[in-house]
Amino acid sequence: MKAKVLIVEDEPAIQELLAFNVMQAGFLALRADDGESAWQQIRAARPDLILLDWMLPNTSGIVLAKQLRADAATKDIPIIMLTARGEERDKIQGLESGADDYITKPFSPRELMARIRAVLRRHAPQLQDETVDAGGLQLLPAAHRVSAHGQNIELGPTEFRLLHFFMSHTERVYSRAQLLDQVWGTQVFVEERTVDVHIRRLRAALEPLDKDGLIQTVRGSGYRFSAN
Ligand code: CA
Repeated sequence: MKAKVLIVEDEPAIQELLAFNVMQAGFLALRADDGESAWQQIRAARPDLILLDWMLPNTSGIVLAKQLRADAATKDIPIIMLTARGEERDKIQGLESGADDYITKPFSPRELMARIRAVLRRHAPQLQDETVDAGGLQLLPAAHRVSAHGQNIELGPTEFRLLHFFMSHTERVYSRAQLLDQVWGTQVFVEERTVDVHIRRLRAALEPLDKDGLIQTVRGSGYRFSAN
């Protein structure tokens, strides 16, 4: 599962450079050149992170960041603000508008990618390509493989995403609605009992290796991945 990075930048050359680097880093690049097209992309594709230029035509990046934070559907999408201004008070204003990080142009692509990875690691660890170890299971996102005791476990794509999410967020209880949001995405309208179907399949796949007990049902609340 590749993280989707929305680039909101009106200068074509910089937008191109950003998209190139984002794709090189293994992410999907979405593009917008003003606030209106940014909102269209956000509603249609729900990006995992937004690179937001401060100076945009019509709606400034600051205003857009505030709008994103004020909307329940978008308030949790991390934002990295891009700007040509480097003054301390601009930085403070950028962060106060709701940005998670701030980078000054001209930026080094390497530094920008490091910031993107750091922000994604905090907000959406399941989108990282790093191997996840939990409860005696090892999950390799890029290879789409899960194993226990060196033995491979066959999983369907939804069960894989579900397990990846759980292994990245252990010991916490998630309601069915939260799992739908996190694993299926907010643009998908499926019934909550769909979650139960996939939990059942996931447990069935883990059962031969005696790992089905990792997925616990918490009565009246939802599900939890627990190694305890
Ligand atoms: Ca600009």
